[in-house]
Amino acid sequence: MKIGILGGGQLGRMFIQEALKYDDEFYVLDPSSECSCAYISRFTQGDFNDYQTVIDFGKDKDVLTIEIEHINAQALEELEKQGVKVVPRPHIIKTIQQKILQKKFYQQNNIPSPDFQVIQGKSEVDFPLPFVQKLNTGGYDGKGVQVIKNTGDLEKMWDAPSVLEKLVDIDKELSVIIAKNEDGEIKTFPVTEMVADPKLNLLDFNICPAHISESVQNQIDEIVEKFVSAADSAGLFAIELFLDKEGKVWVNETAPRLHNSGHQSQEGNANSQFEQFYRVVANAPLADTDASGFSGMLNLVGEEGYSGKVRYDGIQKVLKFPKTYVHLYGKTDTKPGRKMGHINVLADSRAELMEKLIEIKEMVKVISE
Ligand code: ADP
Repeated sequence: MKIGILGGGQLGRMFIQEALKYDDEFYVLDPSSECSCAYISRFTQGDFNDYQTVIDFGKDKDVLTIEIEHINAQALEELEKQGVKVVPRPHIIKTIQQKILQKKFYQQNNIPSPDFQVIQGKSEVDFPLPFVQKLNTGGYDGKGVQVIKNTGDLEKMWDAPSVLEKLVDIDKELSVIIAKNEDGEIKTFPVTEMVADPKLNLLDFNICPAHISESVQNQIDEIVEKFVSAADSAGLFAIELFLDKEGKVWVNETAPRLHNSGHQSQEGNANSQFEQFYRVVANAPLADTDASGFSGMLNLVGEEGYSGKVRYDGIQKVLKFPKTYVHLYGKTDTKPGRKMGHINVLADSRAELMEKLIEIKEMVKVISE
């Protein structure tokens, strides 16, 4: 099968890395000739936001998919009309691309998501403080999101189409990854949890399974069911959730693709999100997602103050740890905050997992030569 992927970042790289064990051809479109997939795929350099480029890239593929959602969805719609299989379907990518449409989608389908107001510009604000402003388009990794706490903050608001969202009193941030193939089979990964390490004050451990009550699990199951039925598309989706201090679950946002919060599944689950995504794209039977024991992931992110050719300080020490797995993304240059790789860790208890994650976190630094 000729599988085309829009986007050549680390998600595409780890997908290809896993799926190469099957006999397919992997084609990638990305603007950067240095991207994570450039040397491991049949690579085309080009802009996945440009209509004609996407049409030209996609027209001879058996199936077309994405590893980033900021792509030209209109071109995918046209290709779908021409008979190219597109997973997930362009209509759901379009909905998710725009925060305003995404919020309306939750509202219309009775999926709990924080209250909101839609504004076209900042003169239209009519929403109780404090709130979170989220730009309609162009936001990712925390960019395009800001908290407006008081009247003094109002002047720093962006004057652009946005969603104003009620500030949730967050107890935990959770994530659930679901997969549906074209035959309609559905499989869900165990819920994962983002953990803040109080000592380091960083929000970048993701652990599985999440420590949640039966009531919370039930609320998540209900959200998953409603989402899958409303999305009306095969695909792999990551739903990011907030658990508030009263025990209620809210949907923050959904990604129509592989997700950072699923990386520990590479060694922590019977099958990873990347294997599962292959099954979705190939319309094969879905893989089992059981977790045995505890798994966690820490992102390797470019240290403040370092730019240029990357060096992973301390990585040799990490490799001596048992049940510890290093994944690097093939990016030659680091800069502050850039995701360069991650480390997965397995353990028999949550306490042991946290201890190992904190120890390893302090051991490695992503710097430049
Ligand atoms: P991005 O996709 O760019 O990461 P998110 O919408 O996930 O943006 O927001 C980034 C972070 O901001 C979230 O992980 C959460 O910590 C915080 N946040 C977003 N929306 C809310 C909200 N309604 N209430 C409280 N915190 C929020």
